[in-house]
Amino acid sequence: MNPDKFGQQIKEVSQRSQLLQNRVSESPLRQENLLSQAFEELSTALEELRVAEEELRAQNEQLAIAQEQVEAERLRYQELFEFAPDGYFVTDTYGKILEANRAAAILLNISKKFLIGKPLSNFIPQEERSAFREQLLRLCDLERLQEWEIRLEQRKGHIFDASLNVTTVRDREGKPTAWRWLVRDITARKQAEEKLRAIQLQNMQLQEVARIKTQIMSVLSHELRTPLNSILGFSQLLLRRYYHLFPPELRDMVERIANSGKHLLALIETILDFSRLETDRLELKLQELNIVELVTATTEELRCLAEQKNLTLVLHSNLQNPRIINDPIRLQQVLVNLVSNAIKFTDTGGVFVEVQQLNHNRVALMVKDTGIGIPESELTNIFGEFWQVDRSTTRKHGGVGLGLAIVDKLVRLMRGTITVESKLGEGSTFRVELPREVSQL
Ligand code: ADP
Repeated sequence: MNPDKFGQQIKEVSQRSQLLQNRVSESPLRQENLLSQAFEELSTALEELRVAEEELRAQNEQLAIAQEQVEAERLRYQELFEFAPDGYFVTDTYGKILEANRAAAILLNISKKFLIGKPLSNFIPQEERSAFREQLLRLCDLERLQEWEIRLEQRKGHIFDASLNVTTVRDREGKPTAWRWLVRDITARKQAEEKLRAIQLQNMQLQEVARIKTQIMSVLSHELRTPLNSILGFSQLLLRRYYHLFPPELRDMVERIANSGKHLLALIETILDFSRLETDRLELKLQELNIVELVTATTEELRCLAEQKNLTLVLHSNLQNPRIINDPIRLQQVLVNLVSNAIKFTDTGGVFVEVQQLNHNRVALMVKDTGIGIPESELTNIFGEFWQVDRSTTRKHGGVGLGLAIVDKLVRLMRGTITVESKLGEGSTFRVELPREVSQL
């Protein structure tokens, strides 16, 4: 029952008793009759009053319960505010701190009681205060300000990066009356961002260095190739035309010029290939081919190298269907690199080449040797550019350390994979897995 209704009931009871009194004074002769009527009405009025009183009591109880609930809720919010992991402030519209929670006091390294009543700008470094105050003025027009990044200064002078989220509290007329502030220490985030920026910068610089390096390699190789071609051309011409006229000593010299020229040209071609692969300028020329025939022909071309070192060179294939789609020149280049390395780094035993059927759409090429092997710690670097396990042994063997880097890039271009297993002193196995049908990227 609401208080208005209860007041109404009281009013009705008092009107009823007034009416009764009037009637008694109007007709004193009929007093007996009236008396019993009056009693009846009075008892009705009293009954109504009792009911009203009862209802009022019940309502009071409900009100007390509701008040308890409101108080419990208020305490809960107070606790949430107090123990929240982030700093919370309430300030008036001049930025004076009205409320602050524990986290806020910890963030500013000051006890809560010294925080209340202070302007928030006290905790902004001197040189940034005027900018802060200007932003405060603008806040009145905003409903909410998110992620305002600022520096805060603790009581003992330590300055840290913070982010502020501000919400405007308004009265019924919409006039701003206070601000609620959420404050977070973002030092760790800022440091991480700084690191990321440094890494990105470093990355860009590295990319630039790589680009310049590739460009230099490419230009240099082109420039070298032109004079080299004439050295090669003329030395070969001399050998062809005047071989029989030369004394043996001179023949030997010209042959050396021609052979060194060929070797140099091969190196330049390797560097050019690598720079083309680095800059994605190398395109596969795809066609259908017989992989067993290609592997057999390539291996045979290298047989004399193996024989010079008294090594066996064995080829095996279990392919039912040898037809695949790939670039024959580039596939041959992969195989030549792997087999010639296997021969180069093997002194006794031999080299075993196998073509395997993996499943209906993948094939594998395996080149296994019984050579010097590769230390385990070096296996992850082996496909890196200009990388050689031991420069002293490779000085003996020649090479620039680009062969496997090129093989790795070519195999990737063919959408295949290359892996290596090796044991020092026992030999190495390189395994290339390829799709039967390579498609252009
Ligand atoms: P390189 O022109 O020096 O042969 P590669 O990239 O082909 O360059 O090989 C890089 C290095 O990996 C070689 O110098 C050698 O140390 C090692 N390596 C490659 N293949 C073999 C192998 N079959 N056995 C042992 N070591 C190998």
